[in-house]
Amino acid sequence: MDSTVLVVGAGILGLATARELLAREPERRVVVLEREPEVGFHQTGHNSGVIHGGIYYAPGSLKARLCVRGAREMYEFCQRHGIEARRCGKLIVATRGDELARLDELERRATANEVPELRRVGPEEMREIEPHVRGIAALHSPATGVVDFRAVARALADDVRAAGGELRLGYDVAAVDVRNGGVRLRSRGGDEVAADTAVFCAGGWSDRLARDAGAGEDPRIVPFRGAYLTLRPERAGLVKSLIYPVPDPTLPFLGVHLSRHVDDEVTVGPTALLAATRDPRRKLSLADVAATLSWPGSWKMMRRWWRTGLTEMKHALSTRTLVREAQRYVPEIEPDDVQRGHSGIRAQALARDGSLIDDFVFDQTGRVLHVRNAPSPGATASLAIAREIADRLDQASLR
Ligand SMILES: Cc1cc2nc3c(=O)[nH]c(=O)nc-3n(C[C@H](O)[C@H](O)[C@H](O)COP(=O)(O)OP(=O)(O)OC[C@H]3O[C@@H](n4cnc5c(N)ncnc54)[C@H](O)[C@@H]3O)c2cc1C
Repeated sequence: MDSTVLVVGAGILGLATARELLAREPERRVVVLEREPEVGFHQTGHNSGVIHGGIYYAPGSLKARLCVRGAREMYEFCQRHGIEARRCGKLIVATRGDELARLDELERRATANEVPELRRVGPEEMREIEPHVRGIAALHSPATGVVDFRAVARALADDVRAAGGELRLGYDVAAVDVRNGGVRLRSRGGDEVAADTAVFCAGGWSDRLARDAGAGEDPRIVPFRGAYLTLRPERAGLVKSLIYPVPDPTLPFLGVHLSRHVDDEVTVGPTALLAATRDPRRKLSLADVAATLSWPGSWKMMRRWWRTGLTEMKHALSTRTLVREAQRYVPEIEPDDVQRGHSGIRAQALARDGSLIDDFVFDQTGRVLHVRNAPSPGATASLAIAREIADRLDQASLR
């Protein structure tokens, strides 16, 4: 049997998967195919940089299981590779009475998910942790931290190469042919590669590749732009670590938060606005717009969430409105304290029935495994997700 594995996508998931496959079977040939000229360019390089503790996720879900484990492994990986991963801690702050029940639910989930060291704190202790914060109650997660996931991706790529794996950058997979138990991929330039096993970790384009490989249409990826503001350096002292609001439990986003990163820059954001492209470098892609609008789930989602959509539009268009969200828990922040920052595009899976899929989703066609939904905390959980993928491939080879 051909023991080559093709991995499409050199984001943090593709690279972590390639590394895991080589660690399990060093003789195996692993080839990572990436469209961009560098690794970690898309979601991996444009996110909040938070090593999540595992608080939010439904107990028993893949996210709950893989995030808690993945966070532990991410800290260990960073330590071994000399990458700064700062365990700065995080506060989730309730500012209104009606948020307390949701804070209770988050605490219950965190306990069920075995999130380490999580505690409930009152207003005074909250201010000892973050002097400029105001709220009526909070959860404190000391094990939550920050890291540069692009640096993690580069270190993973080094590990893959050191273990004998191959990275082909600038290889844009344009055609997929799954036949006779194997898979053949062709690049836009006409170069062909074949193997009997493949893993597609294509982020924003995962639905297209899955469909080309014969998987179902459902779910489709819809892009949501996450744009950040940054605090001016002279005002960055307002935030010591990570300050989050209590999120809306019906949405898979965590709300506008304040984050001090490893380079000490403080960001405000992100927004969560339905985007007209899956590529953060572009403003509009007609193919992406057509893919969103031709999906029945998109219309159902828009009918259900039009009010949230309008709020997000305001956040995207007006710095003042976005800052107002952060003022709820750090009232001293003023619109003049911020400037525009970076943005990223979330690859969010949307089901045909209009629901935004919260959990990670894997799909399989023969010996091709597709990662169809890996939004946040996908970067945190990447090393654990890689093991999950390798386990699924091992099981498939036994069948
Ligand atoms: C705004 C934002 C904030 C986030 N915050 C956090 C956070 O704080 N903590 C956290 O844990 N997670 C966070 N996430 C989620 C996290 O970034 C993702 O879960 C993670 O990066 C997913 O990695 P990936 O490798 O699947 O995707 P990507 O990094 O998007 O990689 C996919 C790769 O596939 C390549 N590709 C696609 N199609 C092809 C093709 N046809 N041929 C060749 N290559 C192809 C792309 O070029 C890309 O490099 C956030 C995401 C966003 C967007």
